[in-house]
Amino acid sequence: MKILKFGGTSLKNANKFLQVSSIIEKNTKKYQVAIVLSAPATITNYLINIIQHVIEKNEIPKYIDDIQNIFFKIIDDIFYQQPNFSYKNIHNLIKDQFVQLKKILHSIQILQICPKNIYAFIISRGEILSIAIMQAILQSKKYNTTIINPVDNLLSNGEILDSVVDISKSSLNIQSLQIPLKNIILMPGFIAGNHKKELVVLGRNGSDYSASVLAVCLNAKKLEIWTDVDGIYTCDPRIISNPFLLQKISYEEAMELSYFGATVLHPKTIFPIMKYKIPCKIKNTNNIKEPGTLISTVDDNIHINLSQQRNIKGITYLDYAVMLIISSTTMDNTELLTKKVLSILARNKIWIILLTQSSSQSNFNFCILEKQLSKTIYILKNELKLELNNHEINPIKFKKKLSIISIIGKDIHFQSNIFSKIFSALSKNNINIHALTKGSSNNSISVVVNQNQKEYCIQAMHTTIFYDTKIIEIFLIGTGGVGKVLLAQLKDQINLLTKKNIQFKICMIANSKKMLQNFNGINLNHWEENLNTSKFTFNFQELITQLKHTYLHNPVIVDCTSSKLISDQYITFLSSGFNIVTSNKKANTNNYHYYQQIRNTALIYGKKFLYETNVGAGLPVIENLKNLLNTGDKLLHFRGILSGSLSFIFGELNENINFSNATYKARKLGFTEPDPRDDLSGLDVARKLLILAREAGYQLELNEIEIESILPSYFNSIPDIQTTMLELKKLDNIFSKKFQQAKKLNKVLRYVGTIHSSGKCQVKIEEIDKNDPLYEIKNGENALAFYSKYYQPIPLVLRGYGAGNNVTAAGVFSDILRTLS
Ligand code: ADP
Ligand code: ASP
Ligand code: MG
Repeated sequence: MKILKFGGTSLKNANKFLQVSSIIEKNTKKYQVAIVLSAPATITNYLINIIQHVIEKNEIPKYIDDIQNIFFKIIDDIFYQQPNFSYKNIHNLIKDQFVQLKKILHSIQILQICPKNIYAFIISRGEILSIAIMQAILQSKKYNTTIINPVDNLLSNGEILDSVVDISKSSLNIQSLQIPLKNIILMPGFIAGNHKKELVVLGRNGSDYSASVLAVCLNAKKLEIWTDVDGIYTCDPRIISNPFLLQKISYEEAMELSYFGATVLHPKTIFPIMKYKIPCKIKNTNNIKEPGTLISTVDDNIHINLSQQRNIKGITYLDYAVMLIISSTTMDNTELLTKKVLSILARNKIWIILLTQSSSQSNFNFCILEKQLSKTIYILKNELKLELNNHEINPIKFKKKLSIISIIGKDIHFQSNIFSKIFSALSKNNINIHALTKGSSNNSISVVVNQNQKEYCIQAMHTTIFYDTKIIEIFLIGTGGVGKVLLAQLKDQINLLTKKNIQFKICMIANSKKMLQNFNGINLNHWEENLNTSKFTFNFQELITQLKHTYLHNPVIVDCTSSKLISDQYITFLSSGFNIVTSNKKANTNNYHYYQQIRNTALIYGKKFLYETNVGAGLPVIENLKNLLNTGDKLLHFRGILSGSLSFIFGELNENINFSNATYKARKLGFTEPDPRDDLSGLDVARKLLILAREAGYQLELNEIEIESILPSYFNSIPDIQTTMLELKKLDNIFSKKFQQAKKLNKVLRYVGTIHSSGKCQVKIEEIDKNDPLYEIKNGENALAFYSKYYQPIPLVLRGYGAGNNVTAAGVFSDILRTLS
């Protein structure tokens, strides 16, 4: 015997009914089958809405006829394809059911009340009609059928709208029916009968439970639950676009998953089949070939896929949760109070989803579903009247609009790093939690969050727990030399990094004129053409609005501009959830208040602010200095050649090349800014020196750096670059004299930035002798000599190319990678 249950999603139109009948037919070749059906999709919801409408609006809504028409349409279409289908009988049956329904609704309208047994009757009409239609289809295909009436045979107890079946009594009833072996058995799901032989229902989604009960009563070897997904996933596919399909899970895990909200299965479904060890498969009517998920006892020999290797099976959620806070005014009665409250709740059948107690033990919190809130408050206020009046307990408080998110897996708390993964996902996404508990079964960990943060929270946790791949979403601003090279480097490295489980998505490329955007990743093959023809421009506010509904794992704004307009937005970027990687020095050289504000914001929002390329391009300057200072070292004195272009130009003077030609050459090689005055003014070096000085702890402003410009001041008023380049010739003599003077003393000229032990900072041309670590520095190299508590008298020297698009882009690239750590 095999039980097949088809949910509403598998019965939503005539084709689906016929498809289900073919699945049934196929199975009859091997087994005797019993079929449990739900109402066609959405019918139960409609029926519930109608009752509410009648009570609230005192009228029978017109759309009741639309519901009748859904059934008429189903049978019309079936009849068209299956001429033997006993159309007339079913048509009359549907008509009768709706005539009866309208009569009952009329009485409800008069009485203004709907007793629970009537309510159960109305909302179960869909199941009755599904079975009648399916029976007619099977009969038209010449199968013999027997319908089991669940009201007479599934004896159940408890709430009329959420009954629990007495399996042993129901088994006796069903076995006494002596159904012929050749017959296909049909039973409406969701419905049972109480000891008064009244119709009751098993709770929303209860047909799964009906099927599992029937499997036990008929001593079935297998149960199959057919739905609209390929099986049980690690998360509801409506929330996560890429969950893993679970091939096999244990009964306990399935029970925990459904209890904590995996609506693919009704929570009561598993218990009966677990007791009688009946294996259950979840299968997809839209994808019959897919093997589905097997729920059974654990079998370690079975092939398991990646997600199953880690015992964690899924993440579920329950919405509309409320947290109640009961607090005692004294310390000594808390234990009794807890006991009393728990027993009140149990007696009144209030479902406590989770419970936490504070360490001081003077208060405890528990979560229930919102639909039970008013009842719970009423009962508690009533039964705790004495304690409340005597001020032994504080007024009962509650927090609404919460979601309970649970991570499910056997012995979950033994899973390595599970708590750190949960906290990392939460903190990275700034999600506040109201409570965190481990389930008493050891198979779950739950967190309570605000409902509006649920999706972010689930997505963040799902990625952290189930994916080895780390994802970085890049929003690049600036497509000049560095930005362009960076994109080329990213493109080259994509495959290699994918092998190392790092995935890049270039979500935005923008410059001052245009913007390209694609949250699934921009194709880097044609970005330049596409950017040039794009109609969009970068607007951060619009970006934030668009991102409201898009979950990003690790978004990074990469600023490859030198624009203050962009650097002035860093606080907004950070507080909107972005990390920042920047080669733009404008933020770090803005006033000290802003400098601090960026760091504080990054700290508060748990985001990275990385700017390694601000000094020495690709050289690891900032990181090394930070490490040094973190380990207790102190900067005493610093000297450095901090400009690649000036290193090149002053190096060329040694080769007897005059000043203007050296500058031409540097510009041609891309070592200078487009306007070389930006380098020759000394301001850029001063900026770098300021960044280093601030890093070392000096609270300086840019105007406190003493700058000896290489150019006389009249160069500032030259309107264009071309004239500037020509004017440079006038300086050749001056520089050649300076150079010769130094040479006589066996010295060379270098443009040096210095941080004195007093904190005074200077940039100026210096004559340098052979013993100086900066003597050899030319050809665009940078050198930074740190004289510190640990490194003296011989300084720590960092040396290497400190300019050029390749090294700068590589430095930006490695900062992007560091956002993952
Ligand atoms: P049926 O009408 O077949 O009973 P349901 O809507 O009750 O269908 O259940 C199937 C739905 O359950 C799926 O469409 C899916 O959106 C939802 N679901 C929630 N959690 C999960 C999960 N972990 N795995 C698979 N489906 C899930
Ligand atoms: N039709 C019922 C419901 O929608 C039962 C079920 O589908 O399992 O809740
Ligand atoms: Mg269902």
